[in-house]
Amino acid sequence: MIKKILFGILGLIIVLILYITITAGPDIKNFFTYTSTDLDDNLTVLLGYGGNTVVLSDPDGKEVLIVDTKVFGGAKKLKSHVEALGTNLDVFIVNTHPHFDHTGGNKLFPGATILTGEKDEMIPNESAKIILVKQGEEYPVVIGADTAFVRNVGRAHTYNSLVVYLPKQQLLATGDIIFHHIHPALFREEGTDIDSWINAFNTLAEWQIKTVVPGHGKIADKNAIGDAKEYFVSIRKGLDNPQKLEELKQRYADYGNVPLATSFKNTVKFMKEN
Ligand SMILES: [Zn+2]
Repeated sequence: MIKKILFGILGLIIVLILYITITAGPDIKNFFTYTSTDLDDNLTVLLGYGGNTVVLSDPDGKEVLIVDTKVFGGAKKLKSHVEALGTNLDVFIVNTHPHFDHTGGNKLFPGATILTGEKDEMIPNESAKIILVKQGEEYPVVIGADTAFVRNVGRAHTYNSLVVYLPKQQLLATGDIIFHHIHPALFREEGTDIDSWINAFNTLAEWQIKTVVPGHGKIADKNAIGDAKEYFVSIRKGLDNPQKLEELKQRYADYGNVPLATSFKNTVKFMKEN
């Protein structure tokens, strides 16, 4: 009974957020809108309905790599997409971080191998094999003729942040260390640390990157990394200067807000307190 009431309240909250979101600017709509883009025959980006997802498949139908598994209906759409790639696939899942909108679909892939930066109850999948990628470590995953590199770039949006680099496609999937053209989500109790976050961007410099798939927001080019870093560096420089902050507020006026969660004001408040 209590469970039913809790689910009812959760449903109401989701409907409310959905309603607010419809009026909250173009970049934020893809939190709830699902789009699928094929970048080549074996590589698809599934934007929205939770965090963004990258699916790299083997043309022989033996293995598949899924970066983040969305939540609710988005997770089910992802499952259908993967099922269409072949039966008896070896499924490798990367959870860039434990948040529910990136890990909600884990349980739809029993027997998968899950690469994660931290063991967390948000990563439920009893039959999964867990590979823990520690800070500074990199783990290769072979998918057909491709190799994906899964690296833990340390503390940023959460305590551990996994990114995935595909050298052949020069593509980087960043998880929530990049909210592209959206004010980032900052949660002190879940590990957000701005200094370490800025440093995480620096660790990406050695890779040739053409395409960036952020945790939220549209597919972007490599400038998305510099932009995300500059966001924090510039705001930090302006923290004690109201005029500078006003200029920055204008500079980032077209960035999306996640209703009740992220905004320019929220970023300034977080950085002043931490
Ligand atoms: Zn997140």
